[in-house]
This record gives sequence, structure tokens and C-alpha cells, in this order.
Amino acid sequence: MNYDVAVAGAGLVGATLACALAKAGLRVAVIEASEPLPPMGEDWELRVSAITPASEFILRGIDVWDALPCDRMGVFREMHVWDATGGGRVHFDAAEIGAEALGHIVENGAVQRALEHRMASLDTLKVFRPDTVEDLLIERDRATLRLGGARLHARLVVAADGSRSRLRELAGIACDGGDYGQEAVVATVLTERGHAETAWQRFMPDGPLAFLPLPGRFCSIVWSTLPEHAQALLAQSDEDFADALGQAFEWRLGRLETVGGRAAFPLRHLHARDYVGERIALVGDAAHTVHPLAGQGANLGLQDAAALAEVVHDTCSRGRDPGRRSNLRRYERWRKGRNRLMQEGLSGFQWLFSSRLEPVRAARNLGLSTVDRLPPLKRLFMRYASGFGGDLPRMARSPRWP
Ligand SMILES: Cc1cc2nc3c(=O)[nH]c(=O)nc-3n(C[C@H](O)[C@H](O)[C@H](O)COP(=O)(O)OP(=O)(O)OC[C@H]3O[C@@H](n4cnc5c(N)ncnc54)[C@H](O)[C@@H]3O)c2cc1C
Repeated sequence: MNYDVAVAGAGLVGATLACALAKAGLRVAVIEASEPLPPMGEDWELRVSAITPASEFILRGIDVWDALPCDRMGVFREMHVWDATGGGRVHFDAAEIGAEALGHIVENGAVQRALEHRMASLDTLKVFRPDTVEDLLIERDRATLRLGGARLHARLVVAADGSRSRLRELAGIACDGGDYGQEAVVATVLTERGHAETAWQRFMPDGPLAFLPLPGRFCSIVWSTLPEHAQALLAQSDEDFADALGQAFEWRLGRLETVGGRAAFPLRHLHARDYVGERIALVGDAAHTVHPLAGQGANLGLQDAAALAEVVHDTCSRGRDPGRRSNLRRYERWRKGRNRLMQEGLSGFQWLFSSRLEPVRAARNLGLSTVDRLPPLKRLFMRYASGFGGDLPRMARSPRWP
């Protein structure tokens, strides 16, 4: 079977890329290891993502945004960030950059289901699932993927199969990375007071605690902390966990009630040394993983998808081969430096706020308060956090695609 592009992994990033390419008329194969998701239940899902306005454009461009269940999406127009060990704080407000919102909080499963639905509607897109990539052969004018149940040929293969990417390994692309020494505990809570469509983040020496607004008085929480503390939090009764959480959050939204379960995710940082090779490109977590403290991981991946779709589309429109490394280099130059900067910035932030050294503590509190008093700097932060900083792919600027 011959395709223009074969995408391994139909997570948020791979499925978005596949839809963008197929909408532009390319023949696309998608290989996904998991079964399709069951229909959405009534309970809140544990995994949510803060989706930036730039990512909203990308999802609009592939006709997925309007298929999301708006009654299950939270919006945040403001953000409060403060340091637990001093008076440093900063307040962001979308109105200061003339925007309606700083982003939306969406259950990952809701986006995933909308993407699955969209993939099924595109004539030139075929999904192989559940199936996995077992072998890769790069030849002069094509790549061959051996799956558990089939063999595919494509001009370009894309690794979108997450941080432990098998395709990246088969292509022999090395990574730099390590552990943050933290795990992120996630849960959903009902708060006594309304969250005021605001995202809240309190930095503690063991890691940041975020409250992300869902509809009504519900919040999704992400509590990054030391692994042993994370495991202890998972083992607590609902009442004890709600109490520990409320204390850690200084009871800003009153008393808390947990709804549903809890889970913990080990946090790692990783960066592939190359984003492209002959007939292969890496996107999303297969290329980079970052600390979740700024809710940027999936958003960076969606920008990768939009940039790669644009490069492949432009290359094909000129009658050139989209799998040639020389043509793919534009994608690498576009995204790698930017993602690395964001990753290093977030790692620096995480180090700065974990430090117990007095001069560092004093400096970060002063830094936060200074940013709060400097509107131009605040606006710059907000533009980057909204995904609108730097050289944007076409899809992130306008919902018209291709
Ligand atoms: C606690 C936490 C909170 C986060 N919050 C946010 C947030 O608010 N905002 C944000 O932007 N990001 C957030 N992130 C990061 C975000 O979740 C990831 O960056 C994003 O999900 C990566 O998407 P992906 O599609 O690249 O990879 P994945 O989601 O890992 O998808 C990879 C896909 O590939 C499939 N696969 C794996 N191996 C194979 C194979 N061999 N063959 C075929 N298929 C395969 C998998 O089944 C999966 O479907 C958070 C992360 C954590 C841990």
C-alpha cells in the first residue's frame, strides 16, 4: 500500500497532523497502537489540557474545534501565579492583550474522540488500529513500515508515537533528557467558591500546584511534587486528600470535595537531537517533552503538526519530494530552536521555584512582582503563553486551511 505520509501514533498531535495533511488532499496512513476510545462517560476525565488560542485555530483549521463538547470545556480569562515562600505574585488578564480568553481547559479524551471522528470522515486517510510499527526500512525514494498486520510504503514517515517513540528508536535518532524528580498528581475537585474563570498556580519548593477551571465549580488539579509525596497523596482517603490539597492551595477557593479518582505521572524532560532525517520527521512528545507547569506540551506539539503540515503541503505543491531531508530541514529549523527555548525556560522556572536558597527565593519573589508591575513584559508573557509568539505556522494564525 502506497501513501504520501504515514503517521505513527494518533494522539493529539499525530491525529491533528494526519487530518491537516488529508484535508490538503494527501494520501495518509495512521498507525495507532490503542483501540478507539469508548463513548464519553458522565464523569470528568482525569487528563485535561490547557489549549491555547493558537491551538484553537489549528483545531478549527481541521474542523475539529466545533465538534468539541462546549458544555464540558472550561475557559480561563485570567491567571494568578504566586510563590508559597514569599510575597511574589503576578496576575495575567486576557483583556490586557485585547483577547477574550487565555485558553480553554478540555478533557484529552474529548479532543481525541473529535479527532477520531474527523479522521474517519476524510477520504484519503486510512487508520490502522490497533497496530504497531515493528520495523522501518528507508530506501532511496520511499520508506517501508512493517506493522503487526500489514506493510506500508510512504514517501515520508512521521513519529508521533509519544515520548517513548519506537519509530524514533528504529530511525536511530538519539535524545537528551532526564528526570525532573517529580510526579504530577491529577484529580478533579468541586470547590466551595467559584473559580472566576481563572487558572491558579501556587509554586511550592517541591513543585507547583495548578487549579484549572472546568464548567461550574469544578476544577482539574495538577500537583507536581516529589515522587514519595505523590504516592502518599494517591494512598490517602478522599477526605484527607481534599484537606491536604486545600491547605496546599491556601483555601483560595474554600473547602474542596474530590470527585472521581486520582493518578500520578512521572515527569521527564526529553529532546531529540534531530527532528528530521531522510524520509522521517518527529513531532510532539516524540521530539520533546516539557514540564507541565505552563500547560505547553500538547500546544507545542500542535504547532509542530501545523508547521510540518505546511512544509509538506508547500513542498508537494511545488512538485518536490516531501520525504527528502533537504526539504524537511525547513521544519526542523522552524521548530527545534523554539521548542528547546521553551523547554529550557520551563526547566529553569522549575529549578528557580524549587530552590530553597535564600538569595534565589528573594530573587524569584522580586522577579514575579516586577513582572506584575511591567505591563509590556506581562503582555509579552501572555502572547507566548497563548501560543502567538514568534514565527507562527499558517494554521495557528488563521482557521483557513490549506
Ligand atoms: C500531568 C500532565 C499534564 C499536562 N497538561 C498539559 C496541558 O495543560 N497543556 C498541554 O499543552 N500539555 C499538557 N501536558 C502534555 C501533553 O499531555 C503531551 O505533551 C501530549 O499529550 C503529547 O501528545 P502526543 O500526541 O505527542 O503524544 P501521546 O499523547 O503520547 O500520543 C502518542 C500516541 O502514539 C501511540 N503509540 C505509541 N507507540 C506506538 C507505536 N509503536 N505504534 C503506533 N502507535 C503508537 C499511543 O497509543 C498514543 O496514542 C501534560 C502532561 C502531563 C503529564
